[in-house]
Amino acid sequence: MNLSVAEAASPAAEPVVRRPSLAGRTRAGLDAALAEIGIPEKERRMRVGQLWNWIYHFGVRDFAEMTTIGKGLRAQLAEHFTLDLPEVTAEQVSSDGTRKWLLRMAPTGPRDRGAEIECVYIPEVDRGTLCVSSQVGCTLTCTFCHTGTQRLVRNLTTEEIVTQLMVARDRLGDFPHRSAPEGAFVPNDGGRFVSNIVFMGMGEPLYNFDGVRDAIGVITDDQGLSLGRRRITVSTSGVVPQIGPLGDEMGTMLAISLHAVRDELRNELVPLNKKYPIKDLLEACRNYPGLSNAKRITFEYVMLKGVNDSDAEARELVRLLKGIPAKINLIPFNPWPGTRYECSDWERIERFSEIVFKAGYASPVRTPRGRDILAACGQLKSETEKLSARARLMLEQDEAETTAVAH
Ligand code: SAH
Ligand code: SF4
Repeated sequence: MNLSVAEAASPAAEPVVRRPSLAGRTRAGLDAALAEIGIPEKERRMRVGQLWNWIYHFGVRDFAEMTTIGKGLRAQLAEHFTLDLPEVTAEQVSSDGTRKWLLRMAPTGPRDRGAEIECVYIPEVDRGTLCVSSQVGCTLTCTFCHTGTQRLVRNLTTEEIVTQLMVARDRLGDFPHRSAPEGAFVPNDGGRFVSNIVFMGMGEPLYNFDGVRDAIGVITDDQGLSLGRRRITVSTSGVVPQIGPLGDEMGTMLAISLHAVRDELRNELVPLNKKYPIKDLLEACRNYPGLSNAKRITFEYVMLKGVNDSDAEARELVRLLKGIPAKINLIPFNPWPGTRYECSDWERIERFSEIVFKAGYASPVRTPRGRDILAACGQLKSETEKLSARARLMLEQDEAETTAVAH
């Protein structure tokens, strides 16, 4: 049996026996659950298919709703398992429709009260993007990143990654048999609320390779949550040896957190650069499986005042990326208490983006969303002035292109 014991509320109380949840499990994980309660092997394949459909296609939260499964087995499942999702401990909705959820994961042992992570949903005209986390904290120590100052607690499990999407679908009424909550953004093309996923929340996804790979397997399964691989972007600070395997085994879009064009500066901003310098990183990008003009790599570049934002650096960026099918994403730095950096001025960002744009790259400045709720998942949030008309145009162009790519 695979039961975990939650921490007792008081020393005198009996430990609470927690039934494990089946939500977020792979097919192999569901098969193991059925084996655990004694379902014979020859029956399991069919049962896994049924569970899969109810859990991921319909999004049911109660075994009793699984009408294609006999009552006896439903009761047996309910006795041993749940379909619980991580607890939403806070939900904030921004005036622009951005939603931020604080999720508490199930405790992993008697002393664990359950790790908390953030997940952010960003609705746009033609898509809805969910920003998910891959770890609790991060072992890397990028100097401009708030997550980098927090110690790594642990990798998220496959289930904990998948259930971030399930919570979002649940809260948005995005499962077929559930209706949209009042005031929700409804896609006007009959599509789903969450159409895209970016691994840009907490953590370095390529340091949790197996967990992320298996989660993407569940998320993209066309009998269930059914999200296209081209609608999923994995962002990495540059774990070079895992970039090829990412393309081979996950087949998603790739984003690289570049942020500097010289090793000396990148060593400081992204210390992992000392292990995998820019030259090696770009070489891995050139060899990214499936790379083409229709499947370009996004290079993220955080704009730090007086640090990496000169005209010369913009020109060097263009030179470095020559020959790589690329998009450049300029991110206004999102300051946090105690940081030594400031965000570049808007004139500077515009000038930088103009150089990049003239060289033929769409270089959208990431639109800051959910400002009123501090939607800081992966620092997606940032303080900003209004974008210029040109920057806005470029952003729209990029969105049109990305949509074209995704179809
Ligand atoms: N660890 C991965 C993914 C999570 S970080 C990575 O580094 O790519 C997601 C993105 O947010 C990265 O591009 C990261 O560089 C950026 N980021 C981190 N801190 C930021 C901040 N304070 N302001 C703006 N962007 C930030
Ligand atoms: Fe980790 Fe990414 Fe933050 Fe660097 S930028 S500390 S890799 S989460």
